[in-house]
Amino acid sequence: MPLGGWFAALRARLFSVRAIPDPIWRDALAAAPLCAALDGARQQRLRVLCAQFLAHKRFSAEAGAQLDDLRCLLIAQQACLPVLELGFAALHGWREVIVYPGEFRVRHPRQDRSTGVITEQDETLIGEAWARGPVVLSWASVSHDLAHPHDGFNVVVHEIAHKLDQLDGAMDGVPALPPGLSRHVWLDVFQRAFDHLQRQLDNGQHGAIDAYAATNPEEYFAVTSELHFSRPVQLAQAAPEVARLLTGLYGAPPAALVP
Ligand SMILES: [Zn+2]
Repeated sequence: MPLGGWFAALRARLFSVRAIPDPIWRDALAAAPLCAALDGARQQRLRVLCAQFLAHKRFSAEAGAQLDDLRCLLIAQQACLPVLELGFAALHGWREVIVYPGEFRVRHPRQDRSTGVITEQDETLIGEAWARGPVVLSWASVSHDLAHPHDGFNVVVHEIAHKLDQLDGAMDGVPALPPGLSRHVWLDVFQRAFDHLQRQLDNGQHGAIDAYAATNPEEYFAVTSELHFSRPVQLAQAAPEVARLLTGLYGAPPAALVP
């Protein structure tokens, strides 16, 4: 039984999954070029996934954020793009999507990896994925990504990549892999690519992969996931083996004109 088989069917009976009406689906596709660029079969799969997402996840607006059906669907579309091949079960273990109007401030304990010392730090974020908790998003950033689908960034894809990474318990840059992708190969390819990026940055070379990816292996995975959907040609040139593995995980990037 494929991922999402009987489990998804059971949940679909427990929650009422209503099909997405044509008019709002058309409006959402018109606003989301990455989704509109999918072929017909994948677009149909995305529509079913979005219906499941909207039935099973709870949206809440914070700090005066404006949410309506279309905005929720636009977020669902971006969130379901990375699970077109994995199925909806890959998004299990969490329920909530919290939306702020723009950047939001958080205070979290951070542990220094070398010293083990834990300190409280304030950060300003555009997105966050809590372990087994909510995905938190800035609507301004979601909206920017929709308007600039090929600028290399996509906050929803980034946070969903973290969710996929957390699915096997450890946040380590290795998501729960489908059959056909080897954990050993994944670790080897991503570690070498991560080391290569760090060397490039040490030498002052900035390329297609944003420097934030060099923070740690989990951010490397999330940032290259954004590139897979948003700038696949540049990713394939910068890190061809990474691009190949991400295609194995996510499927081929949407067939779109990539500037
Ligand atoms: Zn991140």
